[in-house]
Amino acid sequence: MRRDWKERLLSKGILVLDGAWGTEMIKRGLAPGECPELWNFNHPDDVRMIARAYKEAGADIILTNTFGGSRFKLKRSGISSNIKEINKKGVELSREVCGDSLVFASMGPTGEFLKPLGIVTEEEMVACFKEQVEGFVEGGADGVIIETMTDLDEVKCALKAVKENSNLPVAASMTFNRGKRGYATIMGITPEKAAVELEKTGADIVGSNCGSGAKDLTEIARIIRPAINLPLWIKPNAGVPLLREGKTVYPETPEEMARFIPDLIKAGVSMIGGCCGTTPEHIRLIAKEVHSYIDIAYKNLKTVIKFSNQSGLPG
Ligand SMILES: [Zn+2]
Repeated sequence: MRRDWKERLLSKGILVLDGAWGTEMIKRGLAPGECPELWNFNHPDDVRMIARAYKEAGADIILTNTFGGSRFKLKRSGISSNIKEINKKGVELSREVCGDSLVFASMGPTGEFLKPLGIVTEEEMVACFKEQVEGFVEGGADGVIIETMTDLDEVKCALKAVKENSNLPVAASMTFNRGKRGYATIMGITPEKAAVELEKTGADIVGSNCGSGAKDLTEIARIIRPAINLPLWIKPNAGVPLLREGKTVYPETPEEMARFIPDLIKAGVSMIGGCCGTTPEHIRLIAKEVHSYIDIAYKNLKTVIKFSNQSGLPG
């Protein structure tokens, strides 16, 4: 089967995404303050095992251990060399164990703010993401996922970097929280505004991840769906995190989370996985549940106008 996300989505109706990486790495011994991306070299077996566990759980798209792999972010861990290699290696590790699943390389926030809020210019931000993208291409990624973003202008820089430096399809996913006036990023951007802008800027897939659990992400999906003509990507956390005995705990069990799957699919989601606190067991149950709603999923694809102009949509 060709490693093409559109073909895969058209043939399956819905794609299952992987679950959390950060919380899985913490379980395997990642210490507070330790740089996760260095595990690509220091603990490659652990990184492969996380990817393989999601593959075996039924994920069609596996991400990579490159979320914080930008120069700006790595600098905070004292790393200023081999940026491209760190990102390339992250993609290679997922590729080695993903079988026929696709690998979407993860790109998270840089931690820096654009002018005038911060000190970074747009050109500098694009150049920072470019290094990651070059590593993704060399590592053989099938796509890029820009995720957990809260600044729309930063996502646009990341999109630009992907478009200018690769032919890879790109998903853009932002994090929203519920406030008094509805959902918005911490920068005040609503899901609707974000989705429209991201489609305009050239994203192939638009979505939301992290921030809250499946219940809130279902609401966010309902807001985004009518605003765009692209497939919708959703990765909720395993519930809203609680502090128990000084530790952050994500309370939703795989069974509890899987119960939201019908609502998410009815809300028009075409790609479903998990963010913080989700495990291979969450993804296994999500994958199982998803398969009962394939008919609705195909209907969802038909509402995605641009996308369904491609030939091959069943029915
Ligand atoms: Zn998360």
